Amino acid sequence: MGTKDDIKVIVVGGGGAGLCASIAAIEAGAADVTLLEKTSKLGGDTILSGHIISAGGTPLQKQAGIEDTPHQYLIDLLNGGRFASDIILAATLVQNGPMAWEWLSEHGCQFPGPEALHVQHDHMLARSVKLGPPGMLALKQAAEDRGVKILLDSPAQSLMLAGGRVAGVVVEKDGQTTEYPADAVVLTTGGFGRNKEMINTYCPKFNEAVSWNSLGITGDGIRLAQAAGADLVQMDAFRVIQSGADVRMKVLHPTYLLAQIRALGGILVAPDGRRFYDEMGRSFEMVYAAMECGPFYFLIFDAKMATPSQWLPEDTFEKQMEAAVADGMVVMQADTLDGLADQMGAPNLAQTVEQWNADVATGEDTAYGRKESLAPIIEPPFYAIRYKPAIVQTLGGLRINSQAQVLDASGRPIPGLYAAGQVTGGVHGADYIGGSALLETAVYGIIAGRQAIADA
Ligand SMILES: Cc1cc2nc3c(=O)[nH]c(=O)nc-3n(C[C@H](O)[C@H](O)[C@H](O)COP(=O)(O)OP(=O)(O)OC[C@H]3O[C@@H](n4cnc5c(N)ncnc54)[C@H](O)[C@@H]3O)c2cc1C
Repeated sequence: MGTKDDIKVIVVGGGGAGLCASIAAIEAGAADVTLLEKTSKLGGDTILSGHIISAGGTPLQKQAGIEDTPHQYLIDLLNGGRFASDIILAATLVQNGPMAWEWLSEHGCQFPGPEALHVQHDHMLARSVKLGPPGMLALKQAAEDRGVKILLDSPAQSLMLAGGRVAGVVVEKDGQTTEYPADAVVLTTGGFGRNKEMINTYCPKFNEAVSWNSLGITGDGIRLAQAAGADLVQMDAFRVIQSGADVRMKVLHPTYLLAQIRALGGILVAPDGRRFYDEMGRSFEMVYAAMECGPFYFLIFDAKMATPSQWLPEDTFEKQMEAAVADGMVVMQADTLDGLADQMGAPNLAQTVEQWNADVATGEDTAYGRKESLAPIIEPPFYAIRYKPAIVQTLGGLRINSQAQVLDASGRPIPGLYAAGQVTGGVHGADYIGGSALLETAVYGIIAGRQAIADA
């Protein structure tokens, strides 16, 4: 254990939370901060993200004349997460939101002007912005300027334990292990959306789901901390979205087509051809309902709905379908519903569409009470596009307290061990609301870095 002026901190995982924790630790007085990143570049999911970040009660909102408070944000967050969040963690997040925005801005992140504030999904107020490029990765410069050592291609393999505390990290590289002793270790390794085995263990219904996560997101931090006695929370909470391919930049066509065609009257059916949910309902619940019926589902529509998506207006419908196929989507087309059903192997399709058309004629969806976008599916050719859920975030993970200390099964902090960002669980509850995950990486990254020094 070092004195205050020779404290060594190791941060494991070079995404948003890792950069925040590294900078916060060095600014709080650490003599030596090393950031270990498993892959050959920093960024993780943070660089893949939409760079949307939210906070309630910010000066930017004041400038725009928007009255908001952390408390109002908390209500939306709890509601969006269906009241499954750890209330203390959620409250800590929103309370520190304005501080985190200011901190990010001071450390090089580009915030737009007040006109860019907008309402993200599941928020009641305009409290979100998109950071300018490169999002939170702008922090890399601030980290380097302050002397954080960044080591790429350096996967943490295990934690060193000594005297009842975490005492460093072992890295395995090219078959060689290197020990990095430290007074404190901060885990910021992201979620486990790329780890099939963990998904199978904690939420087998997503076995067939594709992943939008970056390649390093394999739950390493969870495994490392478990070996030191860490407790886990809400490991079956996922943020999922409808998709078809597993590379985010390639899923735009199918994602946009789904949104557009549903709004024109398209329906969703399970592998056997039956509907399973109000297609205009909440995406998250729709995907969960789909998963009760099988590993994939189909979007069904007809010729009059076969129009280019409004988000890609320069393309024809045919061009967008070709792009969807190139992205790995399964697209089917037939002149009759029976012909389409044969291709899909969906015996109930014709009957489902017949019922849908009858319901549209009376204006009442007798199956799921869908209120919007009722239109008949009658004009050949008929189309089916196969969708699968995609994992965007795993919401469960290491149990922490509001000081970002990792807790054991009896709720006691494990000395020397901290965690922040998507490797942790409890902040979001059952679902995520727009821009809250990046805020989480900032708020808890900063808290973790500072607490590591305060405890040393
Ligand atoms: C497509 C997409 C869009 C999103 N858009 C938004 C959005 O707009 N707004 C929002 O709030 N949230 C969004 N999210 C969620 C958000 O991006 C993540 O929750 C957040 O970036 C996670 O940050 P993190 O620092 O915890 O982890 P990451 O940014 O994923 O970083 C973790 C890092 O740890 C590294 N690592 C893993 N294991 C090891 C190891 N053993 N040793 C060393 N390094 C290791 C990984 O390689 C990775 O670089 C989005 C997510 C996705 C996938």
